[in-house]
Formats: sequence, structure tokens, C-alpha cells
Amino acid sequence: MSSIKAFQNFADTLSRQDHAMPLMFLGHGSPMNGIEDNEFSMKWEQLGKEIPLPTAVLCISAHWLTKGTHITAMEHPQTIHDFGGFPQALFDVQYPAPGSPALAKETASLVHKTSIGLDHEWGLDHGTWSIVKRMYPDANIPVLQLSIDYSKGPQYHYELARELEALRKKGVLIIGSGNMVHNLRILDWNRPDSGYDWAIEINEKFKKSILSGDHKLLINFEGFGQAGKLSIPTPEHYLPLMYILGLINDKEKTTIFNDKLVMGSISMTSIRVDA
Ligand code: ZN
Repeated sequence: MSSIKAFQNFADTLSRQDHAMPLMFLGHGSPMNGIEDNEFSMKWEQLGKEIPLPTAVLCISAHWLTKGTHITAMEHPQTIHDFGGFPQALFDVQYPAPGSPALAKETASLVHKTSIGLDHEWGLDHGTWSIVKRMYPDANIPVLQLSIDYSKGPQYHYELARELEALRKKGVLIIGSGNMVHNLRILDWNRPDSGYDWAIEINEKFKKSILSGDHKLLINFEGFGQAGKLSIPTPEHYLPLMYILGLINDKEKTTIFNDKLVMGSISMTSIRVDA
């Protein structure tokens, strides 16, 4: 990094100390989005250029489910290729962003709801790197992951998220990476660019609830009935949304993008929240 660029980053950091970083829930979809240029990955690239440069990224990925909550605390997180049956090019991807043991410890100290474990085994799974690599291709910003305690329900994750609030003012970009509608058992390969009727209907309901701030309904998603069951057959891709909803303050501006259904039963619908 040139000294001028470094100084600009430093000045940016100072100037945004009172200003919380945006929040994002990003629909990640297929791991191929990490290497293909398409409307979703191009939008991730654009976001990386649009928002203030973060001091670090903290990602809650649908692909790290644990008992208890853990945070990656190593200096150099490995790139994890947690999928099968994809082209070699996807297994060849490396994203050598640094970690931040100091930020891991600080994050753990912020949370009182549970004792967050410092992890030295995980790394960056594709829920994280497929997106963050597009946003910050130079891999020069520390990236950490916070795991999802899979023994807990949506309300728990929503409440835990609130304790992460201070990170936003420290310039940390918090990303929830999942998919609001995610049912791999009934994928329809004949409709690469559209959704089942029930998926379109519930995608509209999810967006309406998010924009109107009806977090209660989103937390108790059984209230969405049969379409909710089909959208969320298992909750791992939905729970990252709870972290973003939990962190939204009143009067923040929520924007929806990548609002599209693919292969019948996956929504790429994403949200950005600006202070
Ligand atoms: Zn996934």
C-alpha cells in the first residue's frame, strides 16, 4: 500500500469514528459465484468500492455451525473448500486475508450472553470467501468468522447480535452470509433464473417484514406457514439474517438488492443497512 493510500485509510478511519459501518445480509447462493462474473458477484465488487473501507470484516456464515459460539482467532485463516462436485478452479481459490487475534479477543469480551471460544482450527469457508474475495480482492483487510450455535433458535441469535454493536463504530463490517429462501432438496434446474410461486410469495413477505421492521415475525418464522417451511427446511442459511436484524437501529436506512430467485428454491435477496 502506498503511503498516501495508507494515510487516506487512516484519515477515513478517524472521520468515521462516530459513524457506524453499514451492515449487510448477503445471499451467497452457489459457491461458483465466488469465481463467476455475474450480476450477484459484480454487485459484491461494487459494494466493496462504495462503502467506507472497513478496519476488518466479521462474517457470520451459514457454513460454520457449532455447539457454543466461536470466533476465528488465528493470524492467518486458511481458505476452506467446503463443497464437493465443483470445478477444480473453485478448489484452487485461495484468499489469504489476515485474521486478527486482537479483534477476536475484543469481540469475545463484548459478548456476555455466552462465552465465545477463540478458535484456531476453522478459517474462511465459502460462505465468507466467495463474497469477501469479490469485495476486497487484495486480501489486505482482516477477516474473521463468528460461528452459529446450532443448538439455539433465532431469538437467541438476534439477542447475541445486539452485543456486537460497538464493533460497527470501530469500522468493522459485519456481514451475515446465507440465503433467506434455501431448499436444496427441491431445486429446479430448469429454472435457473426464477422461483417457485411459493418462493416468490415468501420472498415478498420477507422483504416487507424487513422494511417495516417486523422483526418479531421474522424471528418466529413459523408464522410464515407452509411457504416458510419450504423456504427454511433447516435454519442454517436463515440464521445469519438474525445477526443483521439484531444490529439494526431505528432510523437506519435499509436497501434491498440482488433481489432474485434462482433454481426455484434459492433467493439471492440481500440487504444493506446504512446508519
Ligand atoms: Zn450456502
